[in-house]
Amino acid sequence: MKKKIEKALENVFIVDNKNIVESGLVKKIDLLNNKITIYLSLSNPAMHIKNKLIKDITNSIKNKNISDTIRIKIEVKSDKDKKIEPVIKNIIAIASGKGGVGKSTIATNIAVSLVKMGFHVGLLDADIYGPSIPLMFNINIEEKPVNLQHKNGIMNPITSYGVKILSIGFFSKYGQAIVWRGPMVTKVLRQFMHETNWGNLDFLIVDLPPGTGDIHLSLLQEIPLKGIVIVSTSQKIALSDVNRSVGMFRIQSIYVPILGIIENMSYVLSKKTKEKCYFFGKNGVLNFSKEMNIFFLGEIPMLQKIREYSDLGIPIVLKNEYIRNIFLNITKNIINQLHE
Ligand code: ADP
Repeated sequence: MKKKIEKALENVFIVDNKNIVESGLVKKIDLLNNKITIYLSLSNPAMHIKNKLIKDITNSIKNKNISDTIRIKIEVKSDKDKKIEPVIKNIIAIASGKGGVGKSTIATNIAVSLVKMGFHVGLLDADIYGPSIPLMFNINIEEKPVNLQHKNGIMNPITSYGVKILSIGFFSKYGQAIVWRGPMVTKVLRQFMHETNWGNLDFLIVDLPPGTGDIHLSLLQEIPLKGIVIVSTSQKIALSDVNRSVGMFRIQSIYVPILGIIENMSYVLSKKTKEKCYFFGKNGVLNFSKEMNIFFLGEIPMLQKIREYSDLGIPIVLKNEYIRNIFLNITKNIINQLHE
């Protein structure tokens, strides 16, 4: 009977390629008075993982035509013995007031620019409302599953274009909304920060969700940021949302330095005359930055190629020299601001 149960458990997997028996999660199987008790030791305390495990184990045992009552006891391993503290020198978050202003595109291209400059770089996609970093780096883990879970529950980031990446999107199906609440997000972020094999990094770029909210507060408390970079377009409506974000970052209890602001989709470059056409209004972000006493980091044009390459999953800085120089300048400005 025990053998049969073990065989059933061999059909159950978590994130790993190994089944739960092979990966040593099953600690004990007790059989008593038509009751089966399975003791598991788990390092990931996430509720959805526990629930999935219980469901999968129950189904797998029932499939073997065993009708005894099944009890599953899960012990969560203490954090102490598996915490690794990699050296991450600078953690910088990219924020925006509104969605769709190009925050993830900019986080992507700043990360790749830093790699080009010779730094060790990580990118943590914490945009729970629309984690688009996997798409921008052409990572599709549904198509090509990878082993995110390392020994002892430590996570492995996925490296693409030299950047070590972890995204909240790796833990949800494509197109599926993430409906995690604050405490859940906090738990996952804690794991991203402290139980991930980042190695030593010069920079960890964090792609924040747009706007302000409870999630931001959990994020800011969980991640020891060196500073924030804000992305906006020049439109009044975008800037009024940025105003709220600035207010949040400057609340005394969570104060995070704002390293500067980037104007995205600033202008369209005329193909013939190379003239800049500022159709969202000229200097909107620059004037705002002066008013708010925020450093102006630079402007990025609206360019069809930027959209096309991000859809292809190729960072534009690798393909277009004009844009590469703009990003390298902006990235240098950010580094300078860190030392101000
Ligand atoms: P956010 O992270 O702020 O929601 P994204 O970075 O996902 O915004 O960008 C939204 C869309 O706009 C994407 O399709 C992206 O390719 C496109 N985009 C961003 N910046 C530019 C730009 N400067 N020129 C053209 N398209 C852009």
